[in-house]
Amino acid sequence: MRISNRKRILITGGAGFLGSHLCERLLGEGNDVLCVDNFYSGTKDNVAHLMGNPHFELMRHDVTFPLYVETDEIYNLACPASPVHYQWDPVQTTKTSVHGAINMLGLAKRTKARIFQASTSEVYGDPEIHPQPESYWGRVNPIGIRSCYDEGKRCAETLFFDYHRQHKVDIKVARIFNTYGPRMHPNDGRVVSNFIVQALRGEDITIYGDGLQTRSFCYVDDLIEGFVRIMASPPEVTGPINLGNPHEFTIRELAEAVLKKVGGPSKLVFNPLPQDDPKQRQPDIGLAKTHLDWQPAVQLDAGLDKTIHYFRNFLQQ
Ligand code: NAD
Ligand code: UDP
Repeated sequence: MRISNRKRILITGGAGFLGSHLCERLLGEGNDVLCVDNFYSGTKDNVAHLMGNPHFELMRHDVTFPLYVETDEIYNLACPASPVHYQWDPVQTTKTSVHGAINMLGLAKRTKARIFQASTSEVYGDPEIHPQPESYWGRVNPIGIRSCYDEGKRCAETLFFDYHRQHKVDIKVARIFNTYGPRMHPNDGRVVSNFIVQALRGEDITIYGDGLQTRSFCYVDDLIEGFVRIMASPPEVTGPINLGNPHEFTIRELAEAVLKKVGGPSKLVFNPLPQDDPKQRQPDIGLAKTHLDWQPAVQLDAGLDKTIHYFRNFLQQ
């Protein structure tokens, strides 16, 4: 029996960077939020400010094991996202994507919940097509050091579409491109947090390779808006839909922009490029515009200011 009209929303990986922003947003909209996390790469600190809210619940749980709860919607975000974190225990990374998807899809099937999958631009690998539309099948190394993440996410997409075709589960799959903002982990090795933290500490800024590889950076608030819109879209909009900011920058341009904003004595230094590092990445967001009426509103300049402000305070604590 239900005695409340509030929607019961489960967010796996809710104590991570994106998950914590999503918890905040959905609580703000008057939902009951159950945040499930094993704290592999997320922290209780990320959601500490939500703990006093009676409609927020935090559960320590690893999604590679079954979960029995009642829910109306599931956002499946559990999975370390930075190369440093996902390569630290690659077997666990694949298990999290694959077993986690099976467990959450099973839960969605039983509860008839709509389920969202946080997929990734990594399904395109090191792409030959630029920008990347959803119709592109990708160029992924199946046995490299990024494969635990890339292939795990690809297999999770397969599972989502098979549960949809075979069991009529109501799915939403978003392919997320590089996203940044407050509450990124300061040591997770991702480029925006790395450069900002290095600049604020006056350390050298580590560019991998020649810095001419590109990425397109989306500010977290824009991305979360995209999550909410795809979840609210009609059932036939299953995705996959790219979510990201199509403005593309070289890594060197990013380093220069961060250094200019932070100032200080840091110098740009060039380190070896990691294996299988994609050379270019830019989302084609045509489908998101058409089906979700969504496009990013925050450009890099403003997003970097907010993120630098966050890390400046964080490092002073
Ligand atoms: P994050 O590492 O900050 O968050 C992931 C969260 O999942 C963490 O809180 C972690 O503890 C939790 N987790 C990991 N394994 C788990 C398990 N087995 N059981 C329960 N919880 C587990 O990363 P993020 O940037 O917030 O990414 C969130 C999701 O979005 C991930 O699925 C990631 O693949 C996807 N994504 C993110 C980006 C990005 O740029 N941030 C890009 C593409 C895709
Ligand atoms: N990168 C870099 N210096 C760093 C961290 C990352 O030059 O200190 C580069 C990395 O090699 C890649 C890009 O920045 O080309 C984005 O890296 P990130 O790990 O943030 O994301 P992903 O490679 O998964 O897109």
